[in-house]
Amino acid sequence: MGETKKWACSDCSYIFEGPEPPDFCPLCGAPREAFAEVAS
Ligand SMILES: [Zn+2]
Repeated sequence: MGETKKWACSDCSYIFEGPEPPDFCPLCGAPREAFAEVAS
């Protein structure tokens, strides 16, 4: 029962969906610290 959240990369606006942000942005390579949770 994973809780799906959305995370937005502050560098390239990529949206990642998952329980926690990725280690690195797949588009621009920004670290996890660059991701902020998107309020749905
Ligand atoms: Zn990015």
